[in-house]
Amino acid sequence: MKCNQCNYDDTKVIESRDVADGQAIRRRRMCAHCGYRFTTYERLERPQLVIIKNNGTRELFNRSKLLAGLYRACEKTPVTSLQLERVVNDIEQELYACGEAEVK
Ligand SMILES: [Zn+2]
Repeated sequence: MKCNQCNYDDTKVIESRDVADGQAIRRRRMCAHCGYRFTTYERLERPQLVIIKNNGTRELFNRSKLLAGLYRACEKTPVTSLQLERVVNDIEQELYACGEAEVK
């Protein structure tokens, strides 16, 4: 994977760990050229889920948006990004486990 700072095409995996009970792999990468560090996730590609909101409108399920909301809610708390990632994975798994294309 390319470095998203300097575009160099050799980045090394410096740490790799399973998250969400093996449903995803989180990798810390480092650019061999500029030393920039970043995180990537590898996970199963799934069909789009539609969320029916309290006001009746529909919205595509967006895990980044959910994660961003949790980050905001947990600012200034000791909750780690890995813990938040796990929460989002659990929610996502539950949503898919119910087998519906649209979820309230
Ligand atoms: Zn770089």
